[in-house]
Amino acid sequence: MTASFSNLSLAEPLARAVAEMGYESMTPIQAQAIPVVLTGKDVMGAAQTGTGKTAAFSLPLLQRLLKHENTSTSPARHPVRALVLLPTRELADQVAQQIKLYAKYTQMRSAVVFGGMDMKPQTLELKRGVEILVATPGRLLDHIEAKNAVLNQVEYVVLDEADRMLDIGFLPDLQRILSYLPKQRTTLLFSATFSPEIKRLAGSYLQDPITIEVARPNETASTVEQRFYSAQDDDKRRVVKAVLNQRGIKQAFVFVNSKLGCARLARSLEREGLKTTALHGDKSQDERLKALEAFKQGEVDLLVCTDVAARGLDIKDVPAVFNFDVPFNAEDYVHRIGRTGRAGASGLAVTLVSPSDMRLVSDIEKLIKTKLEVEIYPFEDDRSRGNFNEGRAEDRGQGRRDERRPERRPERGFERRRDEEEPRERRSSFRPAQVSRDPFFEKPYEAPTVDQASAASWEASSKTVVAKPGLSANIKPKRKVAALFKSGE
Ligand code: AMP
Repeated sequence: MTASFSNLSLAEPLARAVAEMGYESMTPIQAQAIPVVLTGKDVMGAAQTGTGKTAAFSLPLLQRLLKHENTSTSPARHPVRALVLLPTRELADQVAQQIKLYAKYTQMRSAVVFGGMDMKPQTLELKRGVEILVATPGRLLDHIEAKNAVLNQVEYVVLDEADRMLDIGFLPDLQRILSYLPKQRTTLLFSATFSPEIKRLAGSYLQDPITIEVARPNETASTVEQRFYSAQDDDKRRVVKAVLNQRGIKQAFVFVNSKLGCARLARSLEREGLKTTALHGDKSQDERLKALEAFKQGEVDLLVCTDVAARGLDIKDVPAVFNFDVPFNAEDYVHRIGRTGRAGASGLAVTLVSPSDMRLVSDIEKLIKTKLEVEIYPFEDDRSRGNFNEGRAEDRGQGRRDERRPERRPERGFERRRDEEEPRERRSSFRPAQVSRDPFFEKPYEAPTVDQASAASWEASSKTVVAKPGLSANIKPKRKVAALFKSGE
């Protein structure tokens, strides 16, 4: 049975906004989380962006805050009542835009603050008073210290993409922010995984949370065709181009592990005639949003990106994803390929594997509990002149388990941490989370409690609300603030 928004008795302004969005039925996370959040209980939710999670927390939260709605111009009448924390600027911007749409017919004010942008316009908005504040942790602390943001009337706090926040090293920032909030509040924590670190965070800051889980976080969509091709670094671009040509694919994401590699690869592909743009943490905020927008508008064929783009970016229906580099963390593989094969459409995920990546491939195998075959790409022109991989045929299948190869696996989070907003403090005692060995992930996959039919129907039936062309209203392009985007890959 498909759960309908009309069963929720949402206040008229919220119901009107939802109807306007064209949503026909609730997504599984919405069906489970909204009734719980409406009761005011703490929630620990396992769900990724792209599942309708933003509406799952913001609609009930708005409904509960409507009692404070007023038209007064006095800032004192508009204190921050709900705080939504996210790990990256893109996610913060995206969530803030969605909240604005849901709150459109109410008097509730919302604002977003994140680093890499001028503080002044953010300060002005905060000083006018906002009920819902979306923020990245570092910038929020700046505003707290500058006394622009007062959080003593917060009733709801949402820790969104909590695992990502811990990966980036935001734990000390989060702890500080939470210390400014009233003890009496509702806390909602969303995370793609329930690693021991996440459970510890929840144990410290949540009270008797209701656990909600809609899909196994390490599940890959069955609609995605996953291919692993062995390729030396020099051959990888050739494989990408051959796959695009042979499959007639117009647009794809190409994931790399480093910012430097990202810029370099984008330039090489561009030189080779593919319309390419790069998305990584060394780009200024408006450059990043422009890159995304150009891709959304179909002006570029390839978006070469680091993992900063792997999570949450609201780009649907990418026909293919290439892992130009095998991700260091198997969980990132799941996030990356989750960009394709959405809404029941078929997608292709191609991972290019060099001999030193075999250990990483076997980590992916373990995580997704699927045996993976590393193939040799069947170049058409090779059929006549022998395979380019000749002599490396032993890589096929067996090589990836070769434990003799010296491997140095970077610590989890090491690369990504520099890609995103820097945590304000670095505490040597904090260690980035290790790949989860939670027993939760060891048990066989169980179907989510909300039936898949309803999950499919919301995805298939919903009218997709795509971002309007042009930059987000929250982004007022200024000069490039390079210093805030630390380099170093
Ligand atoms: P989120 O996971 O919150 O980032 O949402 C991902 C996308 O799904 C956004 O474009 C939402 O507008 C869209 N969406 C959220 N809820 C629904 C729904 N019930 N039906 C259709 N689309 C939805």
